[in-house]
Amino acid sequence: MTEERIEEKLASYAQEGKKMFTTSSFQSHSLVLLHLISRFQPTIPIYFINTGYHFPETVAFKDLIAKEFGLNVINLPSQTPRYMQTDSQGRLLFASDPDYCCFLNKTQPLEAILMSHDVWINGVRADQSAVRKAMKEEQPAPHGTVRFHPMLDWDSKAIFQYQKKYNLPKHPLDAQGYMSIGCEPCTRKLDPNMQEREARWFGLNKTECGLHTDLIVKS
Ligand code: SF4
Repeated sequence: MTEERIEEKLASYAQEGKKMFTTSSFQSHSLVLLHLISRFQPTIPIYFINTGYHFPETVAFKDLIAKEFGLNVINLPSQTPRYMQTDSQGRLLFASDPDYCCFLNKTQPLEAILMSHDVWINGVRADQSAVRKAMKEEQPAPHGTVRFHPMLDWDSKAIFQYQKKYNLPKHPLDAQGYMSIGCEPCTRKLDPNMQEREARWFGLNKTECGLHTDLIVKS
């Protein structure tokens, strides 16, 4: 979707009185969508799903970008305290049940946000994974909301060109070989022969956290 189309679409949602929000993990490539929002509809709330497991570099980068882009960034923590996120042997859930850990820290907190909004602007790209490739530009989501995927047909070249054109800052861990950055326990550096998303939940049969598999209604 072109920048002009994204601008029109956001304006049309606003004219219809739709309550929009977005979520961001504040990776370098995520900044393109945030920058577009800052240009076209800067008051849209940006939820930072704060699992408590983010790299300190990500948290600092998020604060820097919020200030630099003039964004309305809102912290969204889990309702379940960390001491309750353990298995029967006392291990933290990311080690023994990462799906449930993602549910408590990512999917469940977002349910309340979906209930109070109409449109979830989501920066997924088709070239990131098979799950994302099957998505549509607009797709129904839980609680009568719509997921709007303006970046779906953007590839890494288009992202790079936009970053260059607007001289967007880079996440500080990029320079250390991290390409897909999520929670610290579930992220590793990218080897040259790995796909971007393989740097997450390495060694597990898991490539998504649930936000793009559970919080979607197949149409
Ligand atoms: S990515 Fe890892 S640490 Fe983060 S919520 Fe999911 S399982 Fe837990």
